[in-house]
Amino acid sequence: MEIDRDNCINCGKCVEICPVNVFEMEEEEPVIKHAGDCTLCGVCADQCPEDAIEIQMDKDASRYRIDFEAEQSYVDWSNSL
Ligand code: SF4
Ligand code: SF4
Repeated sequence: MEIDRDNCINCGKCVEICPVNVFEMEEEEPVIKHAGDCTLCGVCADQCPEDAIEIQMDKDASRYRIDFEAEQSYVDWSNSL
C-alpha cells in the first residue's frame, strides 16, 4: 500500500472511512499505522478523492501480502497478513 504524497491533500477521508482504523492522522497527514489489520477491502483507495492510495496484492501459496513501499515522499511500510 502506498500513499502518494504528491497527490494526497490530507483530507483525512481514508482515516475516517477505514473500518479497521489502519490510518491515523499525524501532523495533519495520514499515516499507515496498523497495516496488519487491513482486510484489503479497497474502500480507502476507492474513496480517496485524489487517487493517492494504491493497494498492491501478491498472493503466495498461503497468504496475501501487502507491500508498503516508500521512498522519500511516500509512507514506508512492509507487512504480511
Ligand atoms: S483520502 Fe486520499 S487525499 Fe485524503 S488523506 Fe487519505 S490519501 Fe490523502
Ligand atoms: S483496504 Fe485496508 S486500509 Fe483500506 S479501507 Fe480497507 S481495511 Fe482500511
